[in-house]
Amino acid sequence: MIVAKFGGTSVSSKERVLTLCNIVGTELGRQPVVVVSALSGVTDLLLSLPVLSKSKVGKTIRVIKNLHKNLVGKLWSNKKLQQEIMQFIDSQLEDLAKLTFRDNLTKESLDELVSYGEIMSSHIITHALRSKGIEAAQVIATDLITTNNNFGSADFLLQPSKRNIKRILPPIIKMGVVPVVTGFIGSTKGGRVTTLGRGGSDYTASIIGFCLKASEIQIWTDVDGIFTADPRLVENARALQTVSFKEASELAAFGARVLHPRTIRPAIKAGIPVKVLNTFNPKNSGTLIEEKSSSISYIKAVSFKRKTFLVNIYATEMLLQKGFLARIFKVFAKNAISVDLVSVSEVSVSVTLDDNENLENAIKGINEFANASVVQGLGMVSLIGEGITTSTRTIKKIFDILDKEKILTRMVSLGATDINISIVVESEKIEQAVKALHDRLLLKQS
Ligand code: ASP
Ligand code: MG
Repeated sequence: MIVAKFGGTSVSSKERVLTLCNIVGTELGRQPVVVVSALSGVTDLLLSLPVLSKSKVGKTIRVIKNLHKNLVGKLWSNKKLQQEIMQFIDSQLEDLAKLTFRDNLTKESLDELVSYGEIMSSHIITHALRSKGIEAAQVIATDLITTNNNFGSADFLLQPSKRNIKRILPPIIKMGVVPVVTGFIGSTKGGRVTTLGRGGSDYTASIIGFCLKASEIQIWTDVDGIFTADPRLVENARALQTVSFKEASELAAFGARVLHPRTIRPAIKAGIPVKVLNTFNPKNSGTLIEEKSSSISYIKAVSFKRKTFLVNIYATEMLLQKGFLARIFKVFAKNAISVDLVSVSEVSVSVTLDDNENLENAIKGINEFANASVVQGLGMVSLIGEGITTSTRTIKKIFDILDKEKILTRMVSLGATDINISIVVESEKIEQAVKALHDRLLLKQS
């Protein structure tokens, strides 16, 4: 069997839903389990409810209703069928309203509140498949995925989830029926609704794939796959055919808009190939994420962060002493600052940080035993690919390009796992650096 997950944009318009039905129809031989997100924007609207005034809540719930109603109206011309489907949506929205108006909405009930998005979308998709002659059944994932109590970003518990998934899904599949599972949600052992964190539907697909030993997981989204660079910045960026799990993780960490590595780890761990595909361009082969890097190593992608803070710490007398680095990192930890890149010399330590929250405090702390200063106005460009530093020419090429562009490097870090080279440059030069590096290093490869 396979798991096919469809994100928000893939379930929000008639055209995309029909494409979804087509895709599921052609995959019937491989026994698909469908996982769906809420309609685009719905999770955000639901999350906004607790802070709104009473009248705004009513308005927002009407906006949510209309999003679903418009879709239903476009998908079915039969008024009776429309009414039947909307009856379910209306009853869900009534429950939702009651929950929202309940006093002291806790963090726990917020998860229950957002779960309605996926419950409504999966209902519509189940009916859409049936209307195309595909037997389908809605499955609410609170029955499938058991999680810990970490509301808002819960983690699944393997044993109970596996038991539930194996008990509930295979009988449905064996009857030739396609299960349409709500993404994003689960429940605690005590039966309270939880959510798996933003983008959690990918996680749902990955957990189900893992527990049922799926032969493939498809993540259907609105782009052609994982790109060599952000296509919004680099016009000629292209989708990659394959990336390794490690590469995908690096890309996520360095600001590229791809799957969150946490969400696909279970699938990758089980050796299940994960494909990122585009419902707006279903014929495209997408990007395959595999556990191992496929072939010869080369630079796969360039990503960037527009803003990074460089902290330079000098300590001529202290550095040779044991425990000096530990002292510095203790100060960062105490201030809940996560350090990105690190570079150490005899008399200095340089680190980069993503943001400057608590930074002033940390600098004060470090200045008690060393000399710290912050450089602002910097950004970071990262080149990613397994085995990237194994070629003696790669680094030369990179610096030749930067030299030609007259872009000064402020700090360099070669990832110890041989998968990324990160270069800190002035923020103003980020776009120029990304484009030049992409053009010269990535355009001719496949
Ligand atoms: N609907 C949820 C979100 O917007 C989960 C998902 O789409 O993956 O984060
Ligand atoms: Mg998503």
